[in-house]
Amino acid sequence: MRAALTAELPEEIVLHAEEDLRPFECDGLSAYRRLPMLAVLPSTIEQVQAVLRICYAHDTPVVARGAGTGLSGGALPLESGVLLSLAKFNRILDIDTANRRATVQPGVRNLAISQAVDHLGLYYAPDPSSQIACSIGGNVAENSGGVHCLKYGLTTNNIIQIEIVTIEGERLTIGSPALDSPGYDLLALMTGSEGLLGVIVEVVVKLLPKPELAQCALIAFDDVRKAGNAVAEIIKAGIVPAGLEMLDHPAILATEEFVHAGYPTDAAAILLCEIDGTEGEVADDMARVREVVESSGATDIRISRDDVERALFWAGRKAAFPAMGRISPDYYCMDGTIPRRALADVLIGIGELSEQYGQRVANVFHAGDGNLHPLILYDANQPGELENTEAFGGAICRLCLEYGGTITGEHGVGVEKIDQMCVQFPSAELTQFHAVKAAFDAKTLLNPDKAVPTLHRCAEFGAMHVHHGQLPHPELERL
Ligand SMILES: Cc1cc2nc3c(=O)[nH]c(=O)nc-3n(C[C@H](O)[C@H](O)[C@H](O)COP(=O)(O)OP(=O)(O)OC[C@H]3O[C@@H](n4cnc5c(N)ncnc54)[C@H](O)[C@@H]3O)c2cc1C
Repeated sequence: MRAALTAELPEEIVLHAEEDLRPFECDGLSAYRRLPMLAVLPSTIEQVQAVLRICYAHDTPVVARGAGTGLSGGALPLESGVLLSLAKFNRILDIDTANRRATVQPGVRNLAISQAVDHLGLYYAPDPSSQIACSIGGNVAENSGGVHCLKYGLTTNNIIQIEIVTIEGERLTIGSPALDSPGYDLLALMTGSEGLLGVIVEVVVKLLPKPELAQCALIAFDDVRKAGNAVAEIIKAGIVPAGLEMLDHPAILATEEFVHAGYPTDAAAILLCEIDGTEGEVADDMARVREVVESSGATDIRISRDDVERALFWAGRKAAFPAMGRISPDYYCMDGTIPRRALADVLIGIGELSEQYGQRVANVFHAGDGNLHPLILYDANQPGELENTEAFGGAICRLCLEYGGTITGEHGVGVEKIDQMCVQFPSAELTQFHAVKAAFDAKTLLNPDKAVPTLHRCAEFGAMHVHHGQLPHPELERL
């Protein structure tokens, strides 16, 4: 493979020495690590085409990688595969203020887009907490969300066109610069496809005007159930906050010690509720938020007086994951989504599971979207703790499904949730997923064994849907 690649590409962009490959051994889910056979760092679309064409000809699997901040092992390399890094695709190609759009390369960092258009009074709305590092290509591949997605939508609602390279090396433009295009919505299909259908080499994102004013309320509760119910009540009242996030007691403690954001350390839970718009809209909505949370049992409400205080309130939330490093050697970030009205019950259920599995958990999450992020605290150096953590995580996924939710909200399936896919989807649906994959990648070379489990795998996992006592696909060997 090295000879084949270097015959067409500059030798220095094909990495093969162990010390050069080591940085690519894992993504943000560092519990799983593997060295790729080779890593390639192209800087032009023609080079990406060449890599994919050569891999296709040699039946060699390819894993695309953005910034490697993914939390489900999506960019985990394959020992017999090529790791295709898009890190060098880091240029903003065009800013079109008349149409409020930007054309960017996939390796551009999420926050860099907003920074580049800040002087124009514009910004890119989806804001994952990892936005200082994660790439827009990774955001599209994961359909990433963030604090602002409750009001402004996920990545899928904020892009209008992408360019991909297929595994055969063909360039395809998907979507259109117009508001809508006829035919199937392949752009939505590509968004969240976790590197299984094509390699994204260009993205056209929508830009929004920065709101005139934004204020954030820091709301404390003495009971998690009251905080969970307050979230549902705010939405029920017809208010659409620009962000509505929750931290429970363990998360508040760890974060406050780390960032000193002024969080009340005696609270059982806090909500951060941001309202944006014109001065009048913000004043009206904030008054209504106050009314709703007071009648939901809030013990303290503080409203940011200026942008400095607002940034401080958010600084805690944005640093909540790293803050876990102060209280635990390792943490495992789960990601499930549930209907908002079930928030309180599911949080209490997670607390019960925490006792059952004997492991601590901190919750910090996008409450308005019902998107949970239980952080299971563990020590990878203790034999058996990772396995127990994985089992605990699986139980949280099942809990989300019991309440009508899904096993992932925004972090993707990757390798982490692949077995839980067997629990959420019947085999008929998984078969259709494979048919979609085959339409783009018949040889299954793009990020294989991620995101969509084979029926064999589900049979081994023992989690196939059994209808009226009849196991689907009886022809499959059960191991
Ligand atoms: C501290 C922390 C906080 C986070 N907070 C959030 C959050 O609030 N919201 C959220 O949604 N996520 C969050 N994440 C997860 C992660 O940042 C996102 O999933 C992000 O979109 C990944 O981008 P990346 O560039 O790092 O992609 P990578 O990790 O490199 O890759 C992710 C997946 O995308 C594929 N991929 C990457 N680039 C391409 C490409 N050009 N073409 C095709 N496939 C590609 C990879 O194969 C892989 O399957 C967080 C992560 C961390 C570490």
